[in-house]
Amino acid sequence: MLSLYVHIPFCRKRCSYCDFYLVAGTLRMEDFFEALRSETASRASLLKGETIGAIHFGGGTPSMASPSLLGSWLEQVASLGSFAPDIEIALEANPEDLTGGVAGELHSVGVNRLSLGVQSFSSEKLASLGRAHSPREAMAATRDAARMFDSVSLDLICGVPGENRDAWQGDLERAKASDAQHVSVYMLSLEPRTLLFRDVAAGRVRVPDDGDQAGFYMQALKELKASGYGHYEVSNFAMPGHHSRYNLASWKREPYIGYGPSAHSFFRTEEGELRTANEASLSRYLSAPQSAEGFREVLGERERFEEQVFLSLRINCGLAIEFLRKGNTLPNEMMKALGTMQERGWITLKNDVLYLTDDGFLFADLIAAELIP
Ligand code: SF4
Repeated sequence: MLSLYVHIPFCRKRCSYCDFYLVAGTLRMEDFFEALRSETASRASLLKGETIGAIHFGGGTPSMASPSLLGSWLEQVASLGSFAPDIEIALEANPEDLTGGVAGELHSVGVNRLSLGVQSFSSEKLASLGRAHSPREAMAATRDAARMFDSVSLDLICGVPGENRDAWQGDLERAKASDAQHVSVYMLSLEPRTLLFRDVAAGRVRVPDDGDQAGFYMQALKELKASGYGHYEVSNFAMPGHHSRYNLASWKREPYIGYGPSAHSFFRTEEGELRTANEASLSRYLSAPQSAEGFREVLGERERFEEQVFLSLRINCGLAIEFLRKGNTLPNEMMKALGTMQERGWITLKNDVLYLTDDGFLFADLIAAELIP
């Protein structure tokens, strides 16, 4: 089963904390879709004979694209590969875009899952993040979407400037009351090339420290799990059957093809397992979409091992100890590291599978690094 990702690189303006590849405004949207159709046609062989299980429109702000443009690209893809009967077609949307019947049009071209960039239900938090929607729009968009789409997810951010436990609790309560079947919780991370990073570095803005961030994360875990959301990945929580199929497939190292500037792909050929990435440049993409690729790597044994460890630990399927064995035994250093992690309460072992505990999820990357010789 194959998944597809499309990076739609347009936003109204850049949010203060965001370092994704994008350009402000939608002037080149039609040109972008023309280029997207060319790129898709030029890579048609990757879809031939494949069943597509999930398509994810990310960005950027895909909800700024017209449903008819999205629909015509979906028709092109359907003519090149075949859609699984229960295909997930997900689109990332900003709440302020879902007005005037847009949600219905998205649904009519085949989108069946919306991932809403809510981030918060507090006007102070939204202002500090530079977001364009109001708390009222966020709640209305989530509830309307839940009536129309099979699955609705919302993103929340914790650890913004001035955040405290009560403000964060307010966001969690509203998320639980919103009818969304899926919640993604992100701890604000300061990315070097952002406005927020510069403000924090210059002392103009203060953000909660790592200890507070850890507290917010544990608060989210407790609240969402108590309300029936299963914790299936470090940052993701879902009611039964509502996990993101596209994301889960990529974490399980299943193949996916990415289209658009900066999009990544992972697939297997006779050469081996390949990771590729398109160049992060809209202008170059528009002028030569058939040769958008800017990076290509055939994964060796070590890269495959590292990826498997990093990705397996992030999801609730865990990592089989068998995978860490050299011959029939675990290397001494690894036994020692596992023992220390167990003492700290970061991991549990069940039937020879290693799982992270709630505390362990806070240290997922550190734990993975310990297990990689
Ligand atoms: S809307 Fe999303 S992708 Fe666009 S700038 Fe803001 S955070 Fe980044």
